[in-house]
Amino acid sequence: MAVKLDGAALASNIKAQIREETAALARPPMLAVVLAGEDPASQIYVRGKERDCAECGIRTRTHRLPAEVSQADLLALVDSLNRDEDVDGVLVQLPLPEGLDARPILHALAPEKDVDCFHPLNAGLLALGEPRFLPCTPAGVLELLDAYEIPIRGRHCVVIGRSRLVGRPLAQLLTARDGTVTLCHSKTRDLPNLTRQADILISAVGQPGLVTAEMVKPGAAVIDVAMNRGADGKLTGDADFPAVEPVAGFLTPVPGGVGPMTRACLLQNVLRAARLRRGILC
Ligand code: NAP
Repeated sequence: MAVKLDGAALASNIKAQIREETAALARPPMLAVVLAGEDPASQIYVRGKERDCAECGIRTRTHRLPAEVSQADLLALVDSLNRDEDVDGVLVQLPLPEGLDARPILHALAPEKDVDCFHPLNAGLLALGEPRFLPCTPAGVLELLDAYEIPIRGRHCVVIGRSRLVGRPLAQLLTARDGTVTLCHSKTRDLPNLTRQADILISAVGQPGLVTAEMVKPGAAVIDVAMNRGADGKLTGDADFPAVEPVAGFLTPVPGGVGPMTRACLLQNVLRAARLRRGILC
């Protein structure tokens, strides 16, 4: 039976550490959150982030805007947050309401406050192996692997999904850690043949049941990034959990695996942004 990778417990340890570190700062870090529209999932995510920050001694200021907000007004808000000395990190909750273009908004963020690591400068630094911030979900996956002493160096890491948010930066981070990476996507041919070679198999697609037991090498570490909401309201990943569990060596539950780690890594980035801006780190 696979060892369950307990992201919830690990995230709680990371948060305790962050709490200690923020307490040592003269002024607590400040995260500004921009939430446009009424998307119910976004409202829940933002409330979760506000709670996480409060637990860790990080101040938050959430700017709630109507769905009809104009692109120009949103850009003006980002500009004012960029210039606000009290703000260490800025997070624009996605997706933006219909009619708004996220790209210019994310590109307008001050790179030193871009705690989601979305700005092209930060994505470029990451690609060069000189990251300023680590993107939250990929960083959370690496922290989980490290916490359970799952080696990356020289191992075959197969990542399913090549999004800018998860798969692509994860492939870069695994390569930087000397993993041998195969990055798969919707046009990949014979996916099971590739996944069966994986020592570490990471799925970030969003299709329940995509990863079957037959696709997993016995003993492999299977990291399920996906969060699929079923008709019954329950969250599931991409892996067929009950079938994969007896085959894999390690497996993340959904929920309670990568999700809490993503949230913890955001807090780490806010703390890092505050320290960088205050000259405590360079
Ligand atoms: P995305 O932007 O929709 O990307 C999905 C990727 O999967 C694409 O690269 C796509 O290929 C690939 N894909 C689609 N069908 C495939 C198939 N049949 N075989 C192989 N690859 C296939 O999604 P995302 O933003 O990366 O998110 C992925 C999942 O992770 C979602 O369930 C999301 O909710 C979850 N997520 C979880 C966390 C967390 O904290 N746990 C954070 C972020 C996202 P193409 O590029 O060819 O289209």
